[in-house]
Amino acid sequence: MIFQQQLRIPGPTPLPERVVRAMDRPLVDHRGPEFKAVMDEIVPGLKKVFGTESDMLLLTCSGTGGLESAVANLVSPGEAVIVALCGNFGERFVSLNKAYGAEVIALEAEWGRPVEPSDLAEVLRAHPEVKLVFLTHNETSTGLTNNLQQLARVVRESGDRVLVVDGVSSVGSMPAEMDAWGIDVLISGSQKGWMAPPGLAFMAVGPRAWEQQSQARSPRFYFDWAKLRDEIAKGATPYTPAVGVAFGVQEGLRMLFEEGLDQVYRRHRVIADACAAGLEAAGFELFAADGYRSATVTSALPPDGLDVSALRSLLRQKYGVVIAGGQGKMTGKMVRVGHLGAVSVGDLIQVLWAIEQALEELDIKPADGRTLAAAGESLAREATPALA
Ligand SMILES: *Cc1c(COP(=O)(O)O)cnc(C)c1O
Repeated sequence: MIFQQQLRIPGPTPLPERVVRAMDRPLVDHRGPEFKAVMDEIVPGLKKVFGTESDMLLLTCSGTGGLESAVANLVSPGEAVIVALCGNFGERFVSLNKAYGAEVIALEAEWGRPVEPSDLAEVLRAHPEVKLVFLTHNETSTGLTNNLQQLARVVRESGDRVLVVDGVSSVGSMPAEMDAWGIDVLISGSQKGWMAPPGLAFMAVGPRAWEQQSQARSPRFYFDWAKLRDEIAKGATPYTPAVGVAFGVQEGLRMLFEEGLDQVYRRHRVIADACAAGLEAAGFELFAADGYRSATVTSALPPDGLDVSALRSLLRQKYGVVIAGGQGKMTGKMVRVGHLGAVSVGDLIQVLWAIEQALEELDIKPADGRTLAAAGESLAREATPALA
């Protein structure tokens, strides 16, 4: 009997019981005082987590809609843009820009490697006229976190540019300081570290981006940031928002602040390190470069002879553990364990235990307890406080 699935994909993430209960209430008028009260709490709460005093915009769509809104508001047809990428979500920024008629100058790092600040500096030097730079903070497809603070510094030092960052799977789960690091647009989505269902994209938009927005000439209507800003200032949105999801985001934010952001970030890091240690002990090869491994998703190549889809089906059917496979060109070649939002040490132990059992059943490796032992050693090394 599987009582509850252990949902360990990098979004959507599991909903804490508190969030489920917060959403279990009648809907309210999205232009009335009840919804305004929700907006009056979540807009400043989101700004705090994003580390910004700039405008916070909410759109009803998935994270990709948030990314598309940035392109629609900032890019003009025929304009050259720089996209620095190292995986599938970076490729999405390339495709989006092309869909809007931009001329894309792509700086592509090998999958599993970060975008190097020196490479970015070189591309920026070669293209002084280019105004827009797109980056992915946490590349979910490869389980890699770019050094955003350094990359943003390189962009800032290169002149008057607008830096747009996909922070969908990072903001709220690891440090991402929009104002302090000099980011102009930072985007996230409700179903990742925010512990809410899919349905709302968050875009923080700074002054340089607004300046660019006022001049950009791509068609936009639903995604028009200026209309959004005007309504959000009044505690509403131009079109009907995902009201129920907003209730969930409100409760998720309360939980993040109760735990304390520093502790939230530490919990993610400690669990990620234990996950990496466990998978390595189980015979997997970690995919992301050492020093850049993500706090929210761990990617690994399977041991010889292991069929990733057979492993994933067995985990799902027999153990109720759901992990992700590879994306794009890594489809079928990789496992990815999501550990963001509502995730505890206990959740990770369950995942690693199930993987160890499944590997024995698939005749890959005896279940000798080494996977859990390695995770346990990692946890002990990091001397964790309560992480239940
Ligand atoms: C999840 C994710 C997105 C958005 O995906 P949606 O399915 O549209 O919500 C974008 N970028 C990254 C890095 C992500 O992890």
